[in-house]
Amino acid sequence: MRPISYTRATDVASAITTVSADPQRAFLAGGTTEIDLLRLNVVQPDGLVDINLLPLKQIEVLADGGLRIGALARMSDVAEAPVVQEHFPMIAQALVLGASPQLRHMASMGGNLMQRVRCSYFRDTHSPCNKREPGGGCAALEGINRGHAILGTSEQCIATHPSDLAVALVALDAIVHTEGPKGKRAIAIDDFFLLPGDTPYREHPLDHGELIVAIEIPVLPLARRSFYIKVRDRSSYEFALVSIATALRIEGGVISDVRLALGGVATKPWRARRAEQVLIGAPAERASFVQAAREELAVAVPRRFNAFKVELAERTIVRALETATMMGGTA
Ligand code: SF4
Repeated sequence: MRPISYTRATDVASAITTVSADPQRAFLAGGTTEIDLLRLNVVQPDGLVDINLLPLKQIEVLADGGLRIGALARMSDVAEAPVVQEHFPMIAQALVLGASPQLRHMASMGGNLMQRVRCSYFRDTHSPCNKREPGGGCAALEGINRGHAILGTSEQCIATHPSDLAVALVALDAIVHTEGPKGKRAIAIDDFFLLPGDTPYREHPLDHGELIVAIEIPVLPLARRSFYIKVRDRSSYEFALVSIATALRIEGGVISDVRLALGGVATKPWRARRAEQVLIGAPAERASFVQAAREELAVAVPRRFNAFKVELAERTIVRALETATMMGGTA
């Protein structure tokens, strides 16, 4: 048994100072992933700084209609907030589809963004894993990789990013606000998640001791008719094979604005920019949706057991865009 120190922080500054002072200390929020990984010896901090008492639980409507959500707001509180359900339904739906009710009551918004991959080799300390032990190899490349990524992969890591919430936030161009030893930062959500490349152990651009304090969601009128769909092996408590967050604006039968992001298929929450480029200015009809889906998946790199995800993703994109059109994606 390994001893771990435990401290409860009551203000942001002292939490940051305490964690920054020791490279082996870590923040503890809801703990719904972190405690599992501690028990499995996948992460081995010497000390935990509990941040659950910090005043970071607000759901605040900004003057322009955007939202600022505290990093410690619980997933369930955000999913049930009327302002989220009305103005950003894709967020509420992604939260509900992302975890069981018990987990939603415990897990925080910031913790959701920081959750680690669900690759079984990452969690098995006897398997080679470049994310857990840099340079050790990747057991998933030639292993059981049915759930792994086909977009944004490298020869170092093909683990899928597990968050549903993050897919919606990427579609909405959210901003992650942090505080750390070097001060405050605002990080565009697409820059917050790093591709594995040659450094799969580095998942975020955060310094040690840098804490997420809030997530800002800019106002976006077309998000009122946005939605999130998730295709998975069973209908509850399961990670996505493919998921889609989307919103459309259609004027005179032509797509004038679109947001499209994918989950379950990529190493980071995947903004489908290639597809969006095809869709802007195109007729809002099936042929455009099929072309956009094919364009997005043209760069996919399937492996032995996950090649089915290419067609599944294409079909799910088309289904999502057809549904968005039927929902009345009109300005
Ligand atoms: Fe580790 Fe990534 Fe390979 Fe999984 S896919 S074994 S997380 S390096």
